[in-house]
Amino acid sequence: MLTIKTSSTFGLAQMREKLPKDAYQALLQTLEKGKKLPRETAEAVASAIKEWAVAKNVTHFCHWFQPMTGLTAEKHDAFISIQHSYHSELRVIERFTGSQLIQGEPDASSFPSGGMRSTFEARGYTAWDPSSPLFIIEEESGNTLCIPTVFFGYHGQALDNKTPLLRSLESLSQEGCEFLKLLGDVDVKRIQATLGAEQEYFLIDKNLAALRPDIIMTGRTLLGASSTRGQQLEDHYFGSIPSRVKKFMQEVEFELYKLGVPVKTRHNEVAPSQFELAPIFEDVNISADHNLLTMEVLKRIALKHGMVCLLHEKPFAGINGSGKHNNWSIANDKGENLLEPGTTPHQNLRFLAVLAATLKAVYKHADVLRASIASPGNDHRLGANEAPPAIISVFLGSMLEQILNNIETGKVNKATQQQIIDLGVGQIPTISKDYTDRNRTSPFAFTGNKFEFRAVGSSTNVAVPMSILNAAVASSFKECTARLQELLKKKGSSRDEAVIELVREICKETKSIRFEGNGYSQEWRDEAKKRGLPILNTTPDALRVLTNKKATQFLVDTNVLSPEEIESRYHINVERYVKTLDIEFMTLAELIKGYVIPSVEKQLIQSHSAYEAIKSAALKKSWKVRLDELEKTFSDILKNLEVFEKHLKKSHGLEIEEDKMQLIVTQIVASAEKLRSVCDHAETLVADEFWNLPKYREMLFSNTLTS
Ligand code: ADP
Ligand code: MG
Repeated sequence: MLTIKTSSTFGLAQMREKLPKDAYQALLQTLEKGKKLPRETAEAVASAIKEWAVAKNVTHFCHWFQPMTGLTAEKHDAFISIQHSYHSELRVIERFTGSQLIQGEPDASSFPSGGMRSTFEARGYTAWDPSSPLFIIEEESGNTLCIPTVFFGYHGQALDNKTPLLRSLESLSQEGCEFLKLLGDVDVKRIQATLGAEQEYFLIDKNLAALRPDIIMTGRTLLGASSTRGQQLEDHYFGSIPSRVKKFMQEVEFELYKLGVPVKTRHNEVAPSQFELAPIFEDVNISADHNLLTMEVLKRIALKHGMVCLLHEKPFAGINGSGKHNNWSIANDKGENLLEPGTTPHQNLRFLAVLAATLKAVYKHADVLRASIASPGNDHRLGANEAPPAIISVFLGSMLEQILNNIETGKVNKATQQQIIDLGVGQIPTISKDYTDRNRTSPFAFTGNKFEFRAVGSSTNVAVPMSILNAAVASSFKECTARLQELLKKKGSSRDEAVIELVREICKETKSIRFEGNGYSQEWRDEAKKRGLPILNTTPDALRVLTNKKATQFLVDTNVLSPEEIESRYHINVERYVKTLDIEFMTLAELIKGYVIPSVEKQLIQSHSAYEAIKSAALKKSWKVRLDELEKTFSDILKNLEVFEKHLKKSHGLEIEEDKMQLIVTQIVASAEKLRSVCDHAETLVADEFWNLPKYREMLFSNTLTS
């Protein structure tokens, strides 16, 4: 295990070192058994933290939480309160109590609650999540101690994305342990989901980005003709990293190490100016916090290096977008990876059982999993021929397919040691990444010892899809436990045979979710339709799943979300979809009126006077062809803009958010696309000196010009 020296975090290791023994034990109990932290312990912990933080020149602390906006929020308080004494000398009092550590009360009214607040109370509370290390953010304005917290309402309803994640882990552990015990792992006490979230991003020169109102307002380009070179040479992926970017990456890694985020690999991605950063996996709740921190650090350090980091899923048309592959697995309390084929038949049987349970989870809840990654940005990736399709399917690789097929066709019944070995299960350890054929078109792929949920968007808070995945698997474990119990009751069958039988049944039931072919192809879309898999191409389609009580019942059953929490999340997501697209639409109209039209006008005036000045009839004739094209394009822009603005006005007149969402997805998106395409054509007809927006070629390739 790699140990990284981190200087700016306070986690379990530091607690053990700094806390009195009994306080540390009480804290461990809290973590292991989910018990409430006793007040005295909280005081002891607060005091240890304070001492550590003050030594690190911390002046403020904040409760760091994850409201449903998908980002993070901070509620700051002075760590050291400065009081005037009688003699008007300044006296510094260090004040940081156990209750300040454990609970805060930010005003919840400025965070989305999806209607839950009107039925409950306006107050919101934050509470420390002791399983996630505290960290210090160092900035020129001062150092701030950040306390990772959950955020909930007066009646305990979750107002954030961390609470459901913690609940899902609880449920996963409970149901998983039951299942594992039945498989023969009698002493298992806890299991944990693990996550390594590979983060893709773009880096654009800050001075160029500042000249693009669309990037400033929406994080992506709403206009822009393709540059002559895009990614067709495929020369960017694993190519050499421009030195300016390398310096940026070094600083990002340094900052992240200090914050305890274990980043490991870095390389260029497929598109020009696109890069990726991969962390070493951790427990999913910590990893989710760390990914949020990573996104913040990327943005902050980029600015320092004169660049803007774009985390949007589709900053540029015509070249690849950005995703965040969620490498997910489950580990037991011995640290064994349950999706790692082992060295003994028992371990491999367990592996197959957990694999089957995961298959069943994805099969049963593909629609909600799809909904968990739905966002306007991700709509540009999923379904386009560059990223996993919007149809959720599972890729296992040829060797596992073979094994499952053998089990299914009954080539193995007895599950004796020899049979398991004959089946190939005894040799599963040879499935490494070199053996799994890497199917990049699969949204959910097995990669040797973990699943990679690839359809997650680059700007997503991974706590959301991870909560849903954990809940789905927890619920599947529960089903598997019940079924295995039934199978075990059957006379004369050994445990191993019963497990094989369960795996066989599940293989048959979930066959339709397995797909090894090209996920981008039209054939797959047709085939998926035949198989009855959910095809949810857009965010509105996907979000509607959340209104289907039957589809979301497993979230209620696993205590991950209550029915009203689900409803509130649906409303928040609908509203965010509408608002995000509305901002894009208004920005597009503004860009066209403020930049495109004036540029084309200038070109028209110049071209006209040039035309008038031409004497030669032959030249006039060919010049006229150009002029006609320019005029036609100008008129296309005006006509399309008129239609577009009419739609927009109509949508602004609608009262119900769902109606707006419907109008947007059925009409306005297409109308905006059409408008864009004529503007992009205009860009190719107008002189550079009249075109005031930085072009794709500058934005995408300027980094390669740095020494
Ligand atoms: P590859 O490069 O073939 O995709 P890596 O071993 O580099 O595979 O892993 C890719 C990502 O998957 C990394 O972020 C890594 O930490 C993560 N990962 C590896 N093992 C696990 C696991 N058991 N659980 C969760 N994530 C994992
Ligand atoms: Mg990857």
